[in-house]
Amino acid sequence: MFEQVKLAYAFDALEPHIDALTMETHYMKHHAAYTKNLNDTAEKAHIVGQSIEDVLSQWKKHSLAETKTTIRNNGGGFYNHNLYFAHLSPNAGGEPTGVLAEQIKQTFSTFGAFKTQISKAAIGQFGSGWAWLTANREGSLQIMTSPNQDNPLLETEGIWQPILGIDVWEHAYYLKYKNLRADYIQAFFEVVNWAKVAQNYEQRRK
Ligand code: MN
Repeated sequence: MFEQVKLAYAFDALEPHIDALTMETHYMKHHAAYTKNLNDTAEKAHIVGQSIEDVLSQWKKHSLAETKTTIRNNGGGFYNHNLYFAHLSPNAGGEPTGVLAEQIKQTFSTFGAFKTQISKAAIGQFGSGWAWLTANREGSLQIMTSPNQDNPLLETEGIWQPILGIDVWEHAYYLKYKNLRADYIQAFFEVVNWAKVAQNYEQRRK
C-alpha cells in the first residue's frame, strides 16, 4: 500500500506564499488520485511491497505498455508529490547549511546562482512538469527538469534522484498566481524546508 505523506502543517499554514485552497485541492484531490490509481494497479503490476524508488528506477523492465504508463503517470505523481509536500513548511525559506550548502556552493558557485538557475529551469519547463535538484549516490548535484509526472529516477533508471522538487503544473499555483509562474517560484522558496532537503541529500548518499 502506497501512502500519501502526512502533512506536518495545516493547509493554510503556507499562506500567503501558497494559498490554502491550492494546498487542499493539490493534496486531497490531485495527490490522492495519483495514490489511489497507483494502489489500484499495484497488484496487477506486481509492485506490492516494493519501495516507490525501486518501482520508478526499474520502470523499463515492465513489458506491459499499460503497466508502464500507470507506473510512469501515477507512480511518478505519487512519488513527486510525497517529495514536494514533505519539504514545504511554514517559517522556512532561507538557505541550507552544512554539507548540502557546501556542495551547492561547489557545484553552482553560490546559493544565489543555484536559485537563479533552478528558477530559470522551472520557468522554462514548457507546459506541465517539474524542476529538480537531484543527487547521485556519490553526492554530486544536478538541476534537471521533467515533463508531466516523469522524474529523474525513472528517466535515469535510479542514477539521479530528486532531493528538491518544484511542481510547475498549473494546479500548483494557478488559483493564486494565474499565469505568473515566476511569482509562484519565488514564493515557493519562502516555504522550502532546507533541513528536510538536507536530510534527503544525506539519505541519498548512504
Ligand atoms: Mn502537483
